[in-house]
Amino acid sequence: MTGENTSYPLVVGVDLGGTQIRAAALQGSTLLSRVSMLTGENGTPERVVPRLFRAVDQALSEAHLSRKEIVGIGIAAPGPLNNRTGVVLSPPNLPGWRNIPLREIFEEQYQLPVYLENDANAGALGEYLFGAGRGSQDMVYLTISTGIGGGVIADGRILEGTAGTAGELGHITVDWRGELCGCGNVGCLEGLASGTGIARRVLEAIGRGEGEELLALARQQNSSPGESTHETFRVDARLVAQGASMGIPLARRVLDEAAEALGVGLVNIIHLFNPEVIALGGGLMQMGDQLLAPALAIVRRRAMKVPRELARIVSAELGPT
Ligand SMILES: [Zn+2]
Repeated sequence: MTGENTSYPLVVGVDLGGTQIRAAALQGSTLLSRVSMLTGENGTPERVVPRLFRAVDQALSEAHLSRKEIVGIGIAAPGPLNNRTGVVLSPPNLPGWRNIPLREIFEEQYQLPVYLENDANAGALGEYLFGAGRGSQDMVYLTISTGIGGGVIADGRILEGTAGTAGELGHITVDWRGELCGCGNVGCLEGLASGTGIARRVLEAIGRGEGEELLALARQQNSSPGESTHETFRVDARLVAQGASMGIPLARRVLDEAAEALGVGLVNIIHLFNPEVIALGGGLMQMGDQLLAPALAIVRRRAMKVPRELARIVSAELGPT
């Protein structure tokens, strides 16, 4: 790997996340240095931008590079953003960020070419160039974690759409009479199959008086001895997966529905894009067959034969490390 990467120029990559800031000096997919720090509680641009600069400077110095030795800086940030103007619009998980010209801010600071891309598209490009999509021309990257995001590579290029919002795969409709999503649509894939969606649906059912067994499991895992005055319990996708493997009906139902939604989403993706590779990433992939097997069964049953047989559905190779 290292050998083939020496033909790539030296760059710095920055990942601006809701909880973490990460920066790395890179040559191709080879990491020369890596820095991470917390985005911070009060994550306004005034506080976060200096931290981003510090992360970049640290990544450069740990790789023994000066800014003159790198050809540019690539920033991945949560959408929505405009990758042409380099402006972060108003990401839900970065409060206080509204129309921030992040590219310009970085160009002024470093006097280098700067690229801003939404994190899902950046993930798709990474898989296309260095991961599960290597060698393909048409691929889709789908990341299933707290939310669901994705990016589409069509004919060797990232599919952007008119305003750069194409490939919002978490917000394709999989249940047209479904629940309202934060995006304004109903029955989005993210509402049913993301970690947040799974947890929310379980909590709603518990609120209706269902799922005693799951509630007991949650209490058991979260109770700390000696503190019994306040009942605290946490429901997340991991707990639901555990409950489902123990045969708890509510957990099984919600997880089955999540898997079905994922299957329907994959059928839509196959029909829309006729991809050679669909790379699945994100924390929920750790559930493995619990989520994937029923989803793939739906793909086999429902997707059109020609594009289905050509689509390789595989795990993404470049995870968070
Ligand atoms: Zn939505």
